[in-house]
Amino acid sequence: MSFSKLGLNRSLVDALAQKGYDTPTPIQAQSIPALLEGDDLLGIAQTGTGKTAAFMLPSIQRLVAANERVKPMRCRMLILAPTRELASQIAQSAKEYGRYTKLRVATVFGGVPIARNRRDLGSGVDILVATPGRLLDLIDQKCLALSDVEILVLDEADQMLDLGFIHALKRIIPMLPKDRQSLFFSATMPKAIRDLAGQFLTDPTEVRV
Ligand code: AMP
Repeated sequence: MSFSKLGLNRSLVDALAQKGYDTPTPIQAQSIPALLEGDDLLGIAQTGTGKTAAFMLPSIQRLVAANERVKPMRCRMLILAPTRELASQIAQSAKEYGRYTKLRVATVFGGVPIARNRRDLGSGVDILVATPGRLLDLIDQKCLALSDVEILVLDEADQMLDLGFIHALKRIIPMLPKDRQSLFFSATMPKAIRDLAGQFLTDPTEVRV
């Protein structure tokens, strides 16, 4: 199996080749075709399985194809992550996989001056990676609105609940456009997580690795 057989276009396959990746991992093989079609996804997968590329690659391709112009203080793809370390890693992956595109990537999390986030978001970004608390701070300060989100990713949902982000997530859900693609990842799927997934997803493809 190759990345191009999964439906990814040349510029992404080239960016992957530069990283030395030529064979999709199981979660990539199972998720990428459905995500390119615009399906919602429920992914039961741990870190280390290649899940970041599984959601980033088809999303980059769809964002480029849709070619919407991002507005000030808006983002087109929102990725929520529980920790600043994970948020930074995801943003780094987005930059590497999107190196042959013009997509703009930013990351926001607590512990850095909010003025810097405000400046980064001022003219809008295509891909925003955020922790939930800092995201809400920025929304409350009117530095960001979620009205133009085309793709939402919630990563490591079980960690989110463990860290007490459930209330933040419940505030964020109603701010998102209904007409969007949603992806939800968790290493475990107890009832509380499945219930939360049900609030984000519509008729998702389910992938377990
Ligand atoms: P993740 O599960 O997203 O944290 O990815 C785990 C690690 O695998 C990361 O270092 C990725 O860069 C790497 N990786 C992702 N996809 C592939 C692939 N198809 N071939 C080789 N390495 C990969």
